Amino acid sequence: MDPKSGGAPSPVIVARADHPVSRSHISGNALKVLYRLRDAGFQAFLVGGCVRDLLIGIEPKDFDVATDASPEEVRRLFRNCRLIGRRFRLAHIRFGYQVIEVATFRAAGAPMAPEPDLDGVTDEEAEPEQEQDEEPNGNVDRAHDERGRLLRDNVYGSIDQDVWRRDFTCNALYYNIEDFSIWDYVGGVEDVRARTLRLIGDPETRYREDPVRMLRAVRFEAKLGFTIHESARAPFATLAGLLEHIPPARLLDEFQKLFLAGFGQSSFDLLRGHGLLDHLFPATAAHLADGQDGIALALIRAGLANTDRRVGEGKSVTPMFLFAVLLFGPVSAAAQKRFEAGMPPTAAIADAVDEIVSQQNRRIGIPKRFSIPMRELLALQPRFHRREGRRALGFLAHPRFRAAYDFLVLRAEAGAEDPAIARWWTEIQSLPPEQQRERVGADGGAQESGPRRRRRRRGSRRHAPPPAEG
Ligand code: ATP
Ligand code: MG
Repeated sequence: MDPKSGGAPSPVIVARADHPVSRSHISGNALKVLYRLRDAGFQAFLVGGCVRDLLIGIEPKDFDVATDASPEEVRRLFRNCRLIGRRFRLAHIRFGYQVIEVATFRAAGAPMAPEPDLDGVTDEEAEPEQEQDEEPNGNVDRAHDERGRLLRDNVYGSIDQDVWRRDFTCNALYYNIEDFSIWDYVGGVEDVRARTLRLIGDPETRYREDPVRMLRAVRFEAKLGFTIHESARAPFATLAGLLEHIPPARLLDEFQKLFLAGFGQSSFDLLRGHGLLDHLFPATAAHLADGQDGIALALIRAGLANTDRRVGEGKSVTPMFLFAVLLFGPVSAAAQKRFEAGMPPTAAIADAVDEIVSQQNRRIGIPKRFSIPMRELLALQPRFHRREGRRALGFLAHPRFRAAYDFLVLRAEAGAEDPAIARWWTEIQSLPPEQQRERVGADGGAQESGPRRRRRRRGSRRHAPPPAEG
């Protein structure tokens, strides 16, 4: 029971013989950390998503440890340890590329709102937190904003307090290294078995404390195929707007977890279905409303399917490309207006991107290192219509050609571009240089219009950026 409702909470302890979590599936480094803490006389548990994932038989993304050792005590035990975090202090124990995160138990009622990733992805354009100075002894140090959102939380406690600040019951299971049992205070084992996402405590309060939990619910729904329990789904209708008060950098972090981890298509559909997309990509959601633009939607689907496939194959993916995919509809509409007003195509697109990105930055912050190449990728699209002369050949050597070409192929796939144009650019890349020159009629410096010159017929595409200049 929740300690706030009186009585000492006691967990259901599931013995090793009664659950499938085996040490052979736990990272050796995580085991090292757990054993060393235990040998030093501390409690040490695996906690959170890794226990949930091990229970359902999938490979955990990372291993998190919870302990009664203070961050300083953890640091003394591990040479490869770094303390991080202002909002709450965590120990990061590094083994090459792998980091095992060790958190000290925190007191009851204190939710956690992790700071954005520390790998530099989200440090740009971060909104300054309304933070006060940290208490030196870190004992009673908690701050809310005016909407009940918890800004900082440094109250250490015991495991039976720690459990209540976690979000979903399936994320609040503790695997004890002492006897390999699982401690369950909240019915999480049963919910994992039933594949149900249920919030711990009163759903509305828990979402108000941290509205990002709504996105986390959708992420686990998409990633794990769990069902969001009715009690955790109902508040979306009234509370989704609270996402607008989350710092854009944190939303960027969450966006990447939703869209770059191999289940982006399903995340997108679920966010839309739950009415949350409006608060993350307002221009896109408005553009897609009422099925007005089937092509923009088809492009998003194709782009996300492509990204999911690449993630599955272990290839690299970039948020830049996904932003281009997701913003393409509103960007094309804004570019079209400018084009009709007489602005040259490339400038119209670049200008439209600026407008949409600056709107978008109020929700998910797009760092400049993504928005600048994205703008270029989109503004380069009209250049694919020029298939004669040296400029066409020169385009092949453009540093952003590859990304722009990938986007062209996607547009063709979605019906936003004449597939013959995409095929032409696919083919020419495979030719030896002299045949390439022949193809564009640029042999020996011939003039722009060679024998194979092809003009795009009017009306052959519906949704493309306006034709190339010149
Ligand atoms: P993933 O598979 O994405 O790693 P996860 O459940 O491990 O999923 P993390 O973001 O790694 O998610 O967080 C680890 C644990 O910390 C969670 O399982 C949960 O117990 C707790 N937690 C994380 N974020 C929150 C939050 N916003 N509110 C409450 N608890 C949270
Ligand atoms: Mg995790």
